Amino acid sequence: MESQQDYECAICLSLSCEPVKLKCDHIFCQRCLERTFEDKEKRTCPMCRTKISSKFKLKVDTKIKEEAKEAFPDEFEEMTKKLEELKIEEAKTIKVKVEYGNKHKLVPLPSKSRSKPSVSNKHEWTVFVRVANEGIKTENIVEKVKFELHETFKNPTRIIENAPFQLTTKGWGTFEIPITITWKKSLKYPDTVLYHDLSFEGAGEWKNYTLRIHEDLIKPKTSASKVKVKAVKPAPFK
Ligand SMILES: [Zn+2]
Ligand SMILES: [Zn+2]
Repeated sequence: MESQQDYECAICLSLSCEPVKLKCDHIFCQRCLERTFEDKEKRTCPMCRTKISSKFKLKVDTKIKEEAKEAFPDEFEEMTKKLEELKIEEAKTIKVKVEYGNKHKLVPLPSKSRSKPSVSNKHEWTVFVRVANEGIKTENIVEKVKFELHETFKNPTRIIENAPFQLTTKGWGTFEIPITITWKKSLKYPDTVLYHDLSFEGAGEWKNYTLRIHEDLIKPKTSASKVKVKAVKPAPFK
């Protein structure tokens, strides 16, 4: 086991200086795996799709790390340096948690469906995209959102250009909604396409999408933030 490939991460295709070994014996960088699993509910090996238990911690395997360092010292040092630089850059980014999905409630007196008169539109649902971070307004991040409804809807392609980025309608069946998010130009981030399975279970269902943005792009550009004075909130009286 002395080929560099044995220590390579199949995600970034480099020698891994923070290797994590999965139960299936595949090796990846800790950071690469964390990124890959970030918004996923279920984790599987990116190579062989073996399920990874929710209890499994993505811990660096120090034995493999030492082996890689010993066998390929130059590459190891180079990758360590690269990773450190990356971490410094990342410390300046803000993780924006974008929620997308649908809310749902039952309609007390439903009307008959236009496309299928044998059923009634007893579900009222709202499909939405919003930023969950406190202190970040969705409209400061999102330019517009395109929701593509089922073809039986009138004007199935709906583009929402102002907050709240959502639309409410009534229907009888579920379907998959492609959601295209166009971010604010200043973020220089390509459109994101997410797919949401409309849910009529209880209050609805939604998921997260994580977007990393350089802090300078979100912080209000006021003189106060430039000098980096942190306002300390006084503790509330009890
Ligand atoms: Zn990697
Ligand atoms: Zn595997």
